[in-house]
Amino acid sequence: MTAPIHWESTHFVQSVADTRQFPGIALPQVAIAGHSNVGKSSLLNALFGRKGLVKTSKAPGCTRLLNLFEVDGRLLVVDLPGYGFARAPKKEQARWSSLIEHYLTSEPGPKLVLMLLDIRHGPKSSDLRLIEWLNARGIRWQPVATKADKLSGNSRSNRLREMTDALGGMLAPLSTSSLNKRGVENLRELLDREISEGN
Ligand code: GDP
Repeated sequence: MTAPIHWESTHFVQSVADTRQFPGIALPQVAIAGHSNVGKSSLLNALFGRKGLVKTSKAPGCTRLLNLFEVDGRLLVVDLPGYGFARAPKKEQARWSSLIEHYLTSEPGPKLVLMLLDIRHGPKSSDLRLIEWLNARGIRWQPVATKADKLSGNSRSNRLREMTDALGGMLAPLSTSSLNKRGVENLRELLDREISEGN
């Protein structure tokens, strides 16, 4: 049996502004997608067990890049630029989508996309557009609800149920919080299985 991934052994590889700059690293890839401010950087830092390794989001208008992290020589985590800044110019939004879409359709591309959604708000139209786009291309994705600490017991389960319905009722979101680390271990196990099963 393969040893579980050692998450603390993560290092930043590089940022790429264009998929042609993508390094030739022969590791399975997992992409992390989400609306800006969904809690993506915080969750990645919790996943890696390393405060500050992933820089928290910058203001709209900053260069948007794919940030690559190699985990334990086993996995390449591709942090996609957060989308959906309402105030960003159309041209810039188009550039982000083109970067994301180029990467997602590149070879070998990600085995799985973690789709981050704020537990309080449910999927936004930009999330649903990306999900539809992934479904149309047969790219596997897993919903991950963020900021679960913001809600208590009942309302959390209600929101998770509503989120499952909004996503078409097929995939139950994994509930996480980078504040109290709820669900972080489950997320690690999910990714561990993803890598070991070699599917
Ligand atoms: P990103 O833009 O998706 O990378 O989001 P960040 O990780 O920068 O987080 C956006 C904001 O949400 C920051 O103010 C964080 O402190 C806050 N945040 C992120 N994760 C959590 C969480 O699990 N719980 C709570 N309560 N706040 C969070």
